[in-house]
Amino acid sequence: MKPLAILGGTFDPVHVGHLNAAWEAAELLDAEVHLMPASVPPHRPPPAASVEQRVAMLRAALAGQDRLGLDLRELERAGPSYTVDTLAELRAEHGDRPLVLLMGADAFAGLPTWHRWERLFELAHLGVFARPGFQFSLPTELEAAVSGRLADTGGDWRNQPTGRVLQLEVTPLEISATRIRHLLASGRSPRYLLPDRMFDMPGLLAAYRSDPG
Ligand code: ATP
Repeated sequence: MKPLAILGGTFDPVHVGHLNAAWEAAELLDAEVHLMPASVPPHRPPPAASVEQRVAMLRAALAGQDRLGLDLRELERAGPSYTVDTLAELRAEHGDRPLVLLMGADAFAGLPTWHRWERLFELAHLGVFARPGFQFSLPTELEAAVSGRLADTGGDWRNQPTGRVLQLEVTPLEISATRIRHLLASGRSPRYLLPDRMFDMPGLLAAYRSDPG
């Protein structure tokens, strides 16, 4: 069975940076990849789009291909979820199947602020892709946790369910949801930063436009 890799995020909105990184990770790891939109905790600024809108954009973005899937479990739970709990649930479902938690280098550098972060290495491998504009410098405690775990994508990590850190050389695309929200709010139309379908479906991007009509 292929490994299962998960890319969590706010996806407000999902964009070509996420999609290409997920797609190339699927190729590099020969894995099934699921995008997993997160509920946002009450103390964080709420996404501009509603849960329903974020899911509709993800469905539109993923239509017509069968390599990337969608996992909505965190949205279906009451309240926000900790990644460590979601991974424990996935681990219980998948037995010894290798699981890979995917993230950009920006998210990875912030890992020590996550709830029970050291436990993540016991539940999954980590797959980290470079993010342009982001300097790859790790806090000391993360450096220590990573040393000895680094593995080559072509190596033997597939024979273990968890514990390795894989650096994924995906094509660097300097695209962020923040930038896309700003462009849409200022009346621009970032046609080639998002999949076509997201423009072709009426109202899908209305949450970000200053004049949604
Ligand atoms: P925002 O600008 O609203 O903070 P974002 O574009 O960073 O959003 P998120 O939903 O926060 O998107 O990101 C989800 C995951 O995808 C994170 O692990 C992040 O590092 C990664 N990611 C987002 N954009 C890219 C990109 N262009 N290239 C590689 N990884 C990315």
